[in-house]
Amino acid sequence: MTDGKMDFIGQELQKLKEEGLYKEIKTLESSQGAWVQIKGEKVLNFCSNNYLGFAAHDRIKEAAKKAIDRYGVGPGAVRPIAGTMTIHEELEKELAEFKGAEATLVLQSGFCANLAAIPALAEKGDTIISDELNHASIIDGSRLSRANKKVYPHNDMEGLEKVLQETPEGKKLIITDGVFSMDGDIAPLPEIVELAEKYGAMTFVDDAHGEGVVGRSGRGIVDHFDLHGRVDVEVGTFSKALGVMGGVIAGSRELIEYIIQKGRPFTFSSALTVPDTAATLEAVRILSESDELVEKLWDNARYFQKGIKEIGLDTGVTETPITPVMIGEAHQAAEFSKRLLEEKIFAQSIGFPLVPRGKARIRVMISATHSKSDLDFALEKFKKIGRELKLV
Ligand SMILES: *Cc1c(COP(=O)(O)O)cnc(C)c1O
Repeated sequence: MTDGKMDFIGQELQKLKEEGLYKEIKTLESSQGAWVQIKGEKVLNFCSNNYLGFAAHDRIKEAAKKAIDRYGVGPGAVRPIAGTMTIHEELEKELAEFKGAEATLVLQSGFCANLAAIPALAEKGDTIISDELNHASIIDGSRLSRANKKVYPHNDMEGLEKVLQETPEGKKLIITDGVFSMDGDIAPLPEIVELAEKYGAMTFVDDAHGEGVVGRSGRGIVDHFDLHGRVDVEVGTFSKALGVMGGVIAGSRELIEYIIQKGRPFTFSSALTVPDTAATLEAVRILSESDELVEKLWDNARYFQKGIKEIGLDTGVTETPITPVMIGEAHQAAEFSKRLLEEKIFAQSIGFPLVPRGKARIRVMISATHSKSDLDFALEKFKKIGRELKLV
């Protein structure tokens, strides 16, 4: 390495460190759960999207083991060649029933689902109309599509209508996250659907943080707003409340048939593995049988958010179990998070550029696996550190 052709890497890494944007990654020595082990210590876990505890649920682990005995571990090929197994089809059928959609297609991740669906629906000359806070996988899927991109201010329906009025030509595709992951607020989907119907646009919602959380027994945002049949495309992930890994596209039978033909991550990347597929199927069955865990999740969220407000801290605009505890400046939020870990609480600080300057926060991810005494323990520490840092 004397010719300097790779020097940019070291320079860029140095720059990230100087700007405070370098990611330090913690290693867990245990499974996901209310408490996890980091560097030999048990800490209360507020960092995972494992909303319902399915990442290490006994019935789900058992289902994955059984499926391995029957089908092995690997799918062997991309799905159109020889990678589709009966277990993939079972999952697609039961997911469609659960979500109240005509059909679904299972992919390797939520990220892949967006990369499969978006370029299939919009191409050169079409327009993708996107909420400014949409997830990175929506942004990347939109880039791959070569369509025009227009961004409207977050959840701003006047802004959306203005963009629709200014877009007379080509197909129009409105895309929004269902639940926004940094603030926990919910997209105004009924209004989006009405505007889409008025202007002849397609609607596309990415419900990654809504599945297993909102709607009856966690059926997601379309169910939450009772918009069955009026949202054209629903994308979801199995990696959050469902506790596993994988993605899904739901919609009409014809839409799914079309994405099977056109979606590149479906055609060129191998199928979801057997244990992932079986585990997700079991998670869907548990949710279909009972809403007990979803209720517990919401009960915990209400309890914790009320406690945080009583301390004198602010939870922003959340409407879901995602709980941003607003701190202010990024360095303060980072200090808060560091102090929390010393007090055995694992909660990430989030600052610019993920959220606007001055809106840095601790993002607390509540789970049904937390007990009331876990939450009381955390509230006490938030109060103690809030006082230390003169925030309350
Ligand atoms: C997490 C997330 C994804 C990615 O899902 P994976 O299955 O983890 O790839 C996509 N979209 C949104 C809105 C997300 O929050």
